[in-house]
Amino acid sequence: MKHYTPSIDEKVIDDAIQARLQLFSKTPYDREKDVPFFVADMKKIVQQHQRWRSALPNIHPFYAVKCNPDPKLLQLLADMDVNFDCASLAEIEQVLEMGVDPSRIIFAHPCKARSALLIAAQREVQLTTFDNSDELDKIHEISPELELLLRIYAQDHTAKVALGEKFGALVEIARTLLKKARRLKLKVVGVCFHIGSGASNPNAFVTAVQHAKCVFDYGKSLGFDMQILDVGGGFEDNNFEPMAHALRKAIAREFTSPPKLIAEPGRFYASGFYTMVCQVVARRIQKGITTKLPDMLYLNDGLYGSFSMKWSEGKTFVPTLIQSSEISAPARRDWKPHRYSIWGPTCDSMDCISKEVVMDQEIMIGDWLRFRDMGGKLT
Ligand SMILES: *Cc1c(COP(=O)(O)O)cnc(C)c1O
Repeated sequence: MKHYTPSIDEKVIDDAIQARLQLFSKTPYDREKDVPFFVADMKKIVQQHQRWRSALPNIHPFYAVKCNPDPKLLQLLADMDVNFDCASLAEIEQVLEMGVDPSRIIFAHPCKARSALLIAAQREVQLTTFDNSDELDKIHEISPELELLLRIYAQDHTAKVALGEKFGALVEIARTLLKKARRLKLKVVGVCFHIGSGASNPNAFVTAVQHAKCVFDYGKSLGFDMQILDVGGGFEDNNFEPMAHALRKAIAREFTSPPKLIAEPGRFYASGFYTMVCQVVARRIQKGITTKLPDMLYLNDGLYGSFSMKWSEGKTFVPTLIQSSEISAPARRDWKPHRYSIWGPTCDSMDCISKEVVMDQEIMIGDWLRFRDMGGKLT
């Protein structure tokens, strides 16, 4: 049987979890316990930033705020000289209220509301993105002084979340857009792309950088001062270094004198920030039906709450047990591996966190479950 042995960093998190659990009253009827909680790991963010700096030293990260707008996370990133990718006016306002200079923000949404364009420009945000002709008309009318990155289509077909279906202009269309931007006397200053979240195919970067170079050259030929290449997000914890290596090589191959390089990493920074703790509120033992079905656990959070990334990613969440001193008869727990399906609290049968996981031991009502890497969402 596999036992959970925490590393030193994990032990700090576990001590914080235990300290939180101590605050609950000893009664099982405490409503406070029905609210799942998070423990945040600042050190993890510093470590991720060090990885970024050593693998991509020439690419300035603009953290994608939508992945996790926790004020503590944003402040730490700001202090480490990370800039910000904001997808909405609300995010822009949150970052500005921290005292961050608007020159450190990119409004990286290619399809913005008119009000958002107007207010962002009034707040002196300088940089935004576009990928269609109507957006150019809006920008021309509302905020012609904005500097623009043309978002081109890019796609890692193996990515967990494809973004190319929604945004990005094909190279041919990009040319037409550049001509129109020229006619409207708008300021296109570079190119951006996003190969998809949870990407794993380094060739997606190679192709995207090649296409970006074509569009760069075309922009220059029209007289634009093309200065910025924004390589987007999609970086994952588990394959970051090889993907970064492929990206660096592609840029070096395509661009003899590299432009200013920026990126929009989200989940790479945010995922490991939160460990989440939920309580098991109910359980169904599948007796007498068929022995094939795993027993069912019902938690106090699910796909309509903190597990919402499941909708887009189809991720399987595997928790670990936090032993609570409160389970009255720990001796009666069966310490052999058990199969479970794990469910959220709503009445929707889609609200299934994990179809089947194997836990190292029996799980009981009142147990706490620990879910790691719950810091990064996609909304
Ligand atoms: C979501 C998003 C990001 C962050 O993506 P990750 O895969 O989390 O790195 C960056 N840029 C844009 C435009 C996005 O929509």
